Amino acid sequence: MKVAIVGAGPSGFYTADALTKDVPDAQIDIIERLPTPYGLIRGGVAPDHQTTKRVTRNFERTALKPQIRFYGNVEIGRDLSLAELREIYDAVVLAIGAPLDRSLGIPGADKEGVYGAAAFVGWYNGHPDFRQLMPRLDGSGVAVVGVGNVAVDIARVLVKTPAEMATTDLVHYAADAIAASAVTVVHMFGRRGPSEAEFTNVELREMGRLEDCHPVVDPQQLPESVTGEMSDRDRRVRERNLQTLREFVELAPANKRKRVHFAFYARPVEILGGDRVEALRVERTEVVDGRATGTGELRDVPCCAVIGAIGYRGEPLEGMPFDQRHGIAVSEDGRIDEGLFAAGWIRRGPTGVIGTNKPDGHAASEQIAALQPTVGKPGRSKLEQRLRERGRRWVSFADWQLIDRLEVERGKGEAPRCKFVTIDEMLGALDQEMPKAS
Ligand code: NAP
Repeated sequence: MKVAIVGAGPSGFYTADALTKDVPDAQIDIIERLPTPYGLIRGGVAPDHQTTKRVTRNFERTALKPQIRFYGNVEIGRDLSLAELREIYDAVVLAIGAPLDRSLGIPGADKEGVYGAAAFVGWYNGHPDFRQLMPRLDGSGVAVVGVGNVAVDIARVLVKTPAEMATTDLVHYAADAIAASAVTVVHMFGRRGPSEAEFTNVELREMGRLEDCHPVVDPQQLPESVTGEMSDRDRRVRERNLQTLREFVELAPANKRKRVHFAFYARPVEILGGDRVEALRVERTEVVDGRATGTGELRDVPCCAVIGAIGYRGEPLEGMPFDQRHGIAVSEDGRIDEGLFAAGWIRRGPTGVIGTNKPDGHAASEQIAALQPTVGKPGRSKLEQRLRERGRRWVSFADWQLIDRLEVERGKGEAPRCKFVTIDEMLGALDQEMPKAS
């Protein structure tokens, strides 16, 4: 059995690992667009959440299993089509995530200074696609739209001090830009109320323990208790969030210079300014039957940048049926077509934590194990032949381990690493080290 997994993020690795157990003699190739593996663990998880990134140790163990190979710097849709891949392999699993930002869809969203979370987070995490973003942080206020964990990450990275970020792998250009910025206030806008906010409690509580930033909550916006239909687990998280927000109200500002304002019942309706963002216009809402309903009451909040942290979308790929509305692949329990599967965010949409992708990987693996064996699919040998013919240089897992080691060695002080932030830099570093290694 020859299996190709497209995407080396958590869902790709969970699928690969499950396959090594369900189909022990399968040849498994993980194909990744970037030279670096681990997807959102490297490019999405906040740089100050290093413990979350430790899961890569398990993924590394998986990658080193003898039946698995990593082909980094290979893009399906550019270097090889999905149709070609399906010809070469018995099964293909698309674990390509949800790399695009959902659009704010309001007037003014095309102004300079409006960013999506995928771009902004990618920028401070050193994702090569966003190295050039250089967000405008030249005013005192930034508006973050959304009250999920990504919004909290962005707010926190913007207000933490250089000392607080010293133990992180925040890339240098972002650390410098944030330290030099004029930003002292981050407004987080939730279109519904505090009990509907999506952030989890550990993440919210961090906002009360920042060195130079005070969380601001309007006590009038805090309900007595959480109401509405939801699971017991969700209710517990939301009750805890309410409690934490109440504690924030009581917290003394203690001469802290910066503020994060939690602004609920406020939905963005327009981004104001000339070519550049000058303010975000929000409308006060009421929550009726769980939905935000506008009251017509508007206010303008001055800001130099608006960052939409309102969820992500998958990217269409030729040969993958795509559900435009939800931004995911069309599949039935992860099965797209004969021999073609989806796992992770491209299958279910951008929800859950890293481990939520594990069952998806298991499901894809079980479906592959149940496939009728075909004879003579060439798999990896043909992949390599095609890549050679097209002059495409791929990065092996050993190459990645070298990049990883170099990044760790470059890390200064307490920083766990100093990332390479362009593909050329990564390949260049390999070129320099290869003669020494051989
Ligand atoms: P999310 O949890 O779905 O939150 C999205 C937020 O955007 C919600 O507050 C939502 O409000 C709001 N929103 C959506 N459309 C909007 C619009 N048009 N106007 C205004 N607000 C809008 O998504 P996320 O923060 O991107 O996170 C994605 C997933 O990654 C989540 O499962 C998250 O928990 C996970 N994650 C986890 C961590 C962690 O564990 N530390 C860190 C980062 C991300 P409504 O509820 O009203 O729609």
